Amino acid sequence: MGFLRLFTRHKPKIKLQLPKKDGFSGWVKCKQCEEMIHANELQENIDCCPKCDYHYRIPVDRRLRLLADANSHKELFTNILPTDPLNFSDSQPYQERLLSAQKKTRRKEAIWVGTSLLHGMPISLGILDFSFMGGSMGSVVGEKLTLLIEHALSNRLPLVIVSASGGARMQESTLSLMQMAKTSAALSQLHEAAIPYISVLTNPTTGGVTASFASLGDIVIAEPDALIGFAGPRVVEQTIGQTLPPRAQRSEFLLEKGMLDLIVRRGQLKEKIHVFLQFLSGRG
Ligand SMILES: [Zn+2]
Repeated sequence: MGFLRLFTRHKPKIKLQLPKKDGFSGWVKCKQCEEMIHANELQENIDCCPKCDYHYRIPVDRRLRLLADANSHKELFTNILPTDPLNFSDSQPYQERLLSAQKKTRRKEAIWVGTSLLHGMPISLGILDFSFMGGSMGSVVGEKLTLLIEHALSNRLPLVIVSASGGARMQESTLSLMQMAKTSAALSQLHEAAIPYISVLTNPTTGGVTASFASLGDIVIAEPDALIGFAGPRVVEQTIGQTLPPRAQRSEFLLEKGMLDLIVRRGQLKEKIHVFLQFLSGRG
């Protein structure tokens, strides 16, 4: 009587939210596979689609919860604030852009830097915040990263940086580009001191961030299907006069071409980083 099973009621596997006042039912359409997924289910699955495994972007606090042991993180260098030395204005003054990004994210700049424990191991940790002006690297992001690297150096703490960035911050012009050299120089000192650095690239990591600290890890890890590149595909095609292969700037293609060491799904990131840090510190 197999057909009867068709009509058997099953308990829903996920808890459903009641519709909220704003009319949001809790159901969202996955932008990759277009299946309907519930916001609760997505959240329980660390913001990866339960149907197609698409990795959605996550805010800094969720990334911290994912990587740092509970209540072990401590933010450093919080007194460094952005300024507008060029008095720059495009369609909107830079000062106004900064203020609205600060209001939106409740963060002073596009990066969190500090220390934490990772499975009991003390590390220095930097996390870029894409929701703050596209995670762009201006003077403050570069300075905080450099101070973090120096902190890692003087305390002999392994370094982990999680990137999500559109690249250099155009509103700061050369001051922004200088951060590429500054962070890279600091990392070379860390390398000379044999202190491990793991770089984690998430969707998207592009421009001056890819072209500096994000590619300089002793181990470079990416989340699946992340957009990683220097210039966008249209600019590359115009420059080289050729059509790019499909998915040329995605993690899987870059792994095949040797730009990445491995791709790790979000749920396994903490474990993998721990294993590599133990190995690189000579404790594995
Ligand atoms: Zn999906």
